[in-house]
Amino acid sequence: MAMTPLADAPVTELAALRGLFFDLDDTLLTHGVLTRAAYGALWDMHDAGLRLVAVTGRPSGWGEVIVRQWPVDGVVAENGAVALLRQSNGSGGSSGVARFDGCDESERQRRRMQLGDLVARARTLVPEARLTDDVHARVTDVTWDIGERVRLPGDRVDLLAKMIVDAGARTTRSSVHLHATFDVEDKASGAVSFAHAVFGEDAGTTLARYAFIGDSGNDAACFSAFRTTFGVANIASWVPRLSVVPRYVAEGARGLGFAEVASALVQSRGIASRRSGLPR
Ligand SMILES: [Mg+2]
Repeated sequence: MAMTPLADAPVTELAALRGLFFDLDDTLLTHGVLTRAAYGALWDMHDAGLRLVAVTGRPSGWGEVIVRQWPVDGVVAENGAVALLRQSNGSGGSSGVARFDGCDESERQRRRMQLGDLVARARTLVPEARLTDDVHARVTDVTWDIGERVRLPGDRVDLLAKMIVDAGARTTRSSVHLHATFDVEDKASGAVSFAHAVFGEDAGTTLARYAFIGDSGNDAACFSAFRTTFGVANIASWVPRLSVVPRYVAEGARGLGFAEVASALVQSRGIASRRSGLPR
């Protein structure tokens, strides 16, 4: 099915949304940078009463920083395996970060050892492949740099991916990283678990009343699961490889596209409340 331009998204559909789950790299972030437009867009949605949750392949260590500092309700990190939530001290101040990991500590240790074996095997098989510079902040996966600081040719990425699968692990790739994990969660299951634990929403409500915005292959689970989905314009290069494409697509790429979607969501709430005669 073809993607519909964002401008043609029905206001009633956008206005009914309770929140937005969003990808970071090449969706909110523009080549790794949080632009003024994108950060302003987050605040605009926050001020309009939308719940905001980042859903990223980035490490839980990044998630801890983001939930402490940004106007978001939480972060689902490492492609769904770990979630981070700011804990308030009750007087409005921040008192720390809660971490949700579906796996107990001994099993987590066992999986980390297995990931270590994969790293060793990769060093022999594809010696030029480099681990990402954020791998130390990860708990549930390991990642190789395929397009962030270095570009690994497609056939070498495929070779690594085959090695990971042959070892009984799962692999996903974003525009920048190739991931290996022994966890079973994906971005969609991680988002649904988060909304249940934190917002008290059942899965059906989450997938119908929250939207998702992303840009690449590791967003595929969310594009399939959520009813209202957005792509930033740079999704175009991934479209041939996605079984389900986002329902709506922004004109702008990366952070600009994100800001466009945010603006449509915020405006829809104003339009809908004026129509129904309710105060904004
Ligand atoms: Mg991305």
